[in-house]
Amino acid sequence: MQENELSIIIPVYNESGNLQMLYDRIKNTVNSITEHYEILFVNDGSSDDSLLKILELSQSDSRVYYLNLSRNFGHQIAVSAGLEYSNARCTVIIDSDLQDPPELISELYAKFNEGFDVVYAKRQKRIGESIFKKITAKLYYRVLKKMVSFDIPLDAGDFRIVSKKVVEAINKMPEQNKYLRGQIAWLGLKQTHVLYSRDSRKHGTSGYSYGKMIRLAFDGITGFSDKPLLFVSRLGFLISFFSFLLIIYAVFSHYALEQTITGWTSLIMSAAFIGGIQLLSIGVIGEYISRINVNVKGRPLYIVDTTNIETISTPKKTD
Ligand code: UDP
Ligand code: MG
Repeated sequence: MQENELSIIIPVYNESGNLQMLYDRIKNTVNSITEHYEILFVNDGSSDDSLLKILELSQSDSRVYYLNLSRNFGHQIAVSAGLEYSNARCTVIIDSDLQDPPELISELYAKFNEGFDVVYAKRQKRIGESIFKKITAKLYYRVLKKMVSFDIPLDAGDFRIVSKKVVEAINKMPEQNKYLRGQIAWLGLKQTHVLYSRDSRKHGTSGYSYGKMIRLAFDGITGFSDKPLLFVSRLGFLISFFSFLLIIYAVFSHYALEQTITGWTSLIMSAAFIGGIQLLSIGVIGEYISRINVNVKGRPLYIVDTTNIETISTPKKTD
């Protein structure tokens, strides 16, 4: 692909009903910005006819490119794949379910041109999402912010516009467990946001199962903070300290007061408590080890099955 002014990366997982409207709305918006743009759909192993829709769009519009991944690799990897192939002065990342209004691209672009490297879209309102999701998301971002040592934006997803510098830096980051909004925040540079109200999804259902969401949340924490490890080791110290006091008390009580602490209840309570804490600690360590394991293997992040980008054999990964 030739270098364009604007590249739009769209991860797609079972979004057949949304693609035409998404394309129309993006085109309407972007046409008023520049004619040098590319739209890059990354089909992330959809099982509906999303790929067919993308192929139709790419046949009728030479600005439409696609990467068809060999299976479902997950949203973050689909976007990362798109970033490796995008080639433009500025790149927009946008969901394909129309929760991120394409019209906002104009505002993101205008702000970007004031001299920023990142303009992310900050969610002021979330329409049509469950109370549970709203509360857990709010809570999660606040906990994450406390855990990391750099400025991570609150209430922002991956809908944003970024400079070529950012794309190149992200493409150089080797981690397998991608958490793009964290990686981009980690970069520093000049970042700002515009506010928007997040719509509800137009068609279909969310491709983010609870399992995928929890994994992403853990990737965010383990990727940028070792506070959970510090927490369990401090917990270990604290519990050892109180256990020591308890032992002294038990011995004192036995010999000095001649009252032996008796009972099944106290034994079971302490065994269950310590057992729980130990499992929790092993679990926390396990989360980090499993990520080391994945990274040591160093497998490719994704496999491209088919594409209409000529440079398929040489993704623009900057080494
Ligand atoms: N998506 C993807 N792979 C997945 C899950 C989702 O490429 O495994 C895409 C999906 O098509 C959408 C975006 O990622 O464009 C956000 O996903 P979704 O709307 O399902 O997440 P939610 O908005 O519910 O958090
Ligand atoms: Mg969505």
